[in-house]
Amino acid sequence: CPFEVLFADKSDRATNEQVLDPRTRIILFKMIGRGLIHEVNGCVSTGKEANVYHALTPEFAHLALKIYKTSILVFKDRDRYVTGEYRFRRGYNRRNPRKMVRLWAEKELRNLRRLQAAGIPCPEPFEVRQNVLVMSFLGNREGWASPRLKDAEINDSSVYASLYSELLVHADLSEYNILYHDDHLYIIDVSQSVEHDHPSAFDFLRSDIKNVEEFFAKMGISCLGLRRCFEFVVKEKLDTTEELDAEEVFKKWLELSESEDSREGESIEATSGRSAHEDAVFEKSYIPRTLGDLYDPEREVAALSLDDGQMPIYAQTIELVQPVKRVLTAADDTQVDDGEELPIPLTEDG
Ligand code: ADP
Ligand code: MG
Repeated sequence: CPFEVLFADKSDRATNEQVLDPRTRIILFKMIGRGLIHEVNGCVSTGKEANVYHALTPEFAHLALKIYKTSILVFKDRDRYVTGEYRFRRGYNRRNPRKMVRLWAEKELRNLRRLQAAGIPCPEPFEVRQNVLVMSFLGNREGWASPRLKDAEINDSSVYASLYSELLVHADLSEYNILYHDDHLYIIDVSQSVEHDHPSAFDFLRSDIKNVEEFFAKMGISCLGLRRCFEFVVKEKLDTTEELDAEEVFKKWLELSESEDSREGESIEATSGRSAHEDAVFEKSYIPRTLGDLYDPEREVAALSLDDGQMPIYAQTIELVQPVKRVLTAADDTQVDDGEELPIPLTEDG
């Protein structure tokens, strides 16, 4: 039965995690009534915070429905994304989980729109109603979802480089939130992505890069390394030309680092040990966002300089002062007031 999901009843509830609460069912029935969807099929994924379902339009086009769960406990972890972001400066209502969940679903829709506008491959968002996000389905004609990067079995270094040509502060980026679809990497699960002015933006970005680097290294792909990738992403002006786009510049960095890394007379093991050490140091460093974040800028920058006179990444970051431009912003600028209806849609330039 195509409506299996909608009609499963209470008696199944204990055994069937996919059963939807009555309000969510009403939302889906209304979507069917409006002719947006024709049928809701099986579950593509059951997660901690949301389930993803496959659905068909009356014209048999494939859709993905991300249905956020509305239990309070699930969203407790989200505080760290909200704290410090001015859009949430008035807080959000912890006691009203439905409202909170709606907020995250709306944020995800807007973030997907931002990605789309920036030309980053992602599912096309269609609409959000309360806790239900409707987007295009990334999969084949038979309705099978495209694999996550984790399961995609790719060992193509171009795919790796393509990811760095445009990156956002995803804040939960890993091989689980990237789908390999039509030979490209598609970014999904962006409800927690933040603007680059978020106080923890650089920390999120660093851990995003770390996850991706570790994954590709495990796949046997020769990687640029955490510190250099970070540097690449936050660099204000890349040496791009008409012939050389960001992806090609990244490949150049990669080639350069392979030749640069090996110091004369040094064994391969020693070389990789040294860059691993650099990355480990960088991983634990505090990354100031602006000069104002430093107690005594001059002294601290001096203290940070490396033995070989090279400026460390955080010092370079300070020099930028201007917020990072190439770290594409995926966040929205909606101000969230408790009880306020969020305006949808926003204009493209937000
Ligand atoms: P969660 O919060 O549960 O991690 P995700 O947005 O990451 O939610 O989605 C969970 C899984 O559902 C993904 O790993 C992917 O396999 C599948 N999925 C999500 N969105 C789509 C989509 N638009 N098309 C196809 N599959 C999707
Ligand atoms: Mg996910």
